Amino acid sequence: MMNLTNRSKVVSNKQMTFWERIYIPAILGGMRITFGHLFRRKTTVQYPEVTREFSEIYRGKHVLKRDDDGRERCTACGLCAVACPAEAITMISAERKPGEEHLYREEKYASVYEINMLRCIFCGDCEDACPKEAIFLTREMVRSEYARGKFIFGKAELVEPFDPAKRIDISKRQTPEVLEFKKNRSYKHNR
Ligand code: SF4
Ligand code: SF4
Repeated sequence: MMNLTNRSKVVSNKQMTFWERIYIPAILGGMRITFGHLFRRKTTVQYPEVTREFSEIYRGKHVLKRDDDGRERCTACGLCAVACPAEAITMISAERKPGEEHLYREEKYASVYEINMLRCIFCGDCEDACPKEAIFLTREMVRSEYARGKFIFGKAELVEPFDPAKRIDISKRQTPEVLEFKKNRSYKHNR
């Protein structure tokens, strides 16, 4: 029969030698390779006790930011959801009621805000699209879970703590120009 390629190998049917039949030289050869690896530099780390150094701009789990007065910044405009290439973001908007000004910065807010972390590709497009500096990606990793439903993160997991001491620093994700702009309280955006 004609060969289609020249890569075929002729299988040898020769009898095994005595040493090949007792396997000991092959086992010793394998052990030599295994023990050789014991003294090499390890390429793995004992995660989660040990973590690798992350990049300064590592993009991990999202945070929904509050303003300096503790009010939620998100106004449920939906731009982050539209920008998301993975369609990972959903939300329901609600009108702010009189007396809720201390809770929500804008007249409209997200009563429900969810990100499906199994869909998210951590591209940061939601962060770029947000006109209210409400959503940022942080250096925190998304935890592992066994159930798919636990990867739908709602406001309870996304909105940062009210306590100013526990707020999440996202200044690394802002350019020097943005940080300079934010110092100017005469802009309505910064009040
Ligand atoms: S980081 Fe990218 S994929 Fe993830 S929610 Fe934001 S826009 Fe969507
Ligand atoms: S996070 Fe930003 S872009 Fe997304 S709905 Fe809220 S205000 Fe709009």
